[in-house]
Amino acid sequence: MDILPSMLAWVAPRRCLLCGNLGQPPFPWDAPLCQSCAASLKPIHGIRCKSCGKELRSEIEFCYSCRESGKTGFEIFPIFLFRDQAAQLVRAYKHGGHPSLGGYWKFLVAKEISTRWPDRTLVPVPPRPEKIRAGIWDQVEEIAWRLEADGLPVARVLCRNRDDQQKRLSKAARAGNAQAAYSLDSRKQAEVPEKAVILDDVCTTGATIATCASVLLNAGAKEVSAIVLAAD
Ligand SMILES: [Zn+2]
Ligand SMILES: [Zn+2]
Repeated sequence: MDILPSMLAWVAPRRCLLCGNLGQPPFPWDAPLCQSCAASLKPIHGIRCKSCGKELRSEIEFCYSCRESGKTGFEIFPIFLFRDQAAQLVRAYKHGGHPSLGGYWKFLVAKEISTRWPDRTLVPVPPRPEKIRAGIWDQVEEIAWRLEADGLPVARVLCRNRDDQQKRLSKAARAGNAQAAYSLDSRKQAEVPEKAVILDDVCTTGATIATCASVLLNAGAKEVSAIVLAAD
């Protein structure tokens, strides 16, 4: 683990990743995001689609797109839409080497889980095996261990089979490919929770989460839903 960033955080006040202003630590979430930028980020609000979690306009229960594609059996709860400053923050977290922002995401995810699914076990979507082998930091696990440290049960029962290069594929190919990409870690069968909430960072087609959910359901889980930082 790189200790330099945490040492710097001690000796130098951090700049907010969104506005660039020097922060007034300690932030409640111990992350490089100032209070006023955090307050300006608007989570999805209003009545949500029961499948993709995006805000409904004039539709009832499910959005037009989920109804059209038959995705009406599984709930994904995105905190933000992947737009504007929320997208900027998620990108800075994923690609900019800011693990401490995990404290802010943990704060938001914990709030939703405690009100929506207080009895569920968190199942993080696993990273690519290449990423694990190379020792590259994993942005989903960063949030998972923070939640676990706060007492939330976490079951790391899924594994990712190969680098499927999802981003380069078309939507249809991605849906097919996701099915081959995730499976149950055979050593962890006994740890599969009855009630699970899957954690991922960004949901685009929903294929990754749908696949992880079906792996869990086939392995004995009874209730599965998902929470993601943002939906694209
Ligand atoms: Zn700011
Ligand atoms: Zn929907």
